[in-house]
Amino acid sequence: MNEQVIHYIESIVKERPPLLAEMEQYAEAHNVPIMELVGIEALLGMLRIQQPKRILEIGTAIGYSALRMAEALPHSTIVTLERDEERFDAAQSFLSRSEDRKRIVTLFGDALELGEEVEKHGPFDAIFIDAAKGQYLKFFELYSEMLSEEGVVYSDNVLFKGLVAQEEVEQKRIRNMVKKLKNYNEWLMNHGQFDTSILPVGDGIAISKKRGDRS
Ligand code: SAH
Ligand code: MG
Repeated sequence: MNEQVIHYIESIVKERPPLLAEMEQYAEAHNVPIMELVGIEALLGMLRIQQPKRILEIGTAIGYSALRMAEALPHSTIVTLERDEERFDAAQSFLSRSEDRKRIVTLFGDALELGEEVEKHGPFDAIFIDAAKGQYLKFFELYSEMLSEEGVVYSDNVLFKGLVAQEEVEQKRIRNMVKKLKNYNEWLMNHGQFDTSILPVGDGIAISKKRGDRS
């Protein structure tokens, strides 16, 4: 999306309450990759339509998107996973300052090892994948099993700054990540049980709706 349009949208998005504004500043100062403003606004828009009761988030970071979801959806509970101790601690301290804390369950550890623990909180109506890009397929395989009948999986960063559309990527580490993401995107688009659309907002959001039983 063109920069000017993004700035325009940012300029008219409603101001966030002080705690969230502080989290945005913290993320900026500490290079924490929280969702881009236009991206999170789009995600919240979809969630407001969907009205999921239980949400699973993979990748808490400092709790920004979890808190925004909790605020936008006052009847939902959110289970969120984070493996980085410093970020997990920052999330605890930010979230403790919010009334919405009681509807957010924070679990520490690698998402690929938390399956059993997470399952106790499911099934989930929405799953939001926003963690290590190279592991999206594994996250999806593990957690889509815990989706309710009408569930939706939202995956962030699927366009990776547009790199997925680029012919050549110089840096090897990045090239590897791009390859994995492209593989994920194509796998997802061809998944037999889900219908997926990719929205070019923020860093790219894939929306995968479970087909459900139509027989
Ligand atoms: N959703 C957050 C941003 C998440 S950034 C927001 O928008 O506010 C991605 C986070 O995922 C990082 O903090 C990283 O430590 C975490 N992460 C990456 N891979 C993970 C994994 N396998 N298990 C748990 N957390 C993971
Ligand atoms: Mg992201």
